[in-house]
Amino acid sequence: MQLTHSEIPLEFLSSLPEGMKFIHRGKGYMVVEEILCPNGHSLIAESVRIHDEPSIKLHLSVALESGLIFIDAFWGSHAKLYNFIPKIATETVYATATCPVCDVSLNAPYDCHELGCGSHEGIRLHLPGGQGTISVCARHGCPGHRLEVRGAPPRLVETVSAINFFGEGGDDFAAF
Ligand SMILES: [Zn+2]
Ligand SMILES: [Zn+2]
Repeated sequence: MQLTHSEIPLEFLSSLPEGMKFIHRGKGYMVVEEILCPNGHSLIAESVRIHDEPSIKLHLSVALESGLIFIDAFWGSHAKLYNFIPKIATETVYATATCPVCDVSLNAPYDCHELGCGSHEGIRLHLPGGQGTISVCARHGCPGHRLEVRGAPPRLVETVSAINFFGEGGDDFAAF
């Protein structure tokens, strides 16, 4: 699996929110460096690395299965590892996520912009310092995700949110 490069707007890079960093791997990528549950617990798993960066760890339930999920911290990547086997359902299934430390629910209202999705449920993670949130669509199989940064122009945030390193229909795992 290869990371494909997407251009990240310079305007955004010059004012990256705390919790996100810019790294060079031949080209530039945006990586989530710190992300929290609403109670302030770090969700970063130093010991489980994807693309050689620490991953984001959540407790996830999909249909009747539940366990830990480790998500690639590269912005727009949908690579993930599970310590359980989520059954791939044919019907629409929504995932529920909780903090692995305090078990607080991470699900929150979310209007998914992905074509044909129509989900109103998401999983919301918090950047440090109350600077913003990262949300992903809770519908199993949907790659929808959005960044919201306090004070950032909505146009810029839309552009960054739309970055999708693997594109839809890639050979990677789908989001949740
Ligand atoms: Zn917590
Ligand atoms: Zn969706």
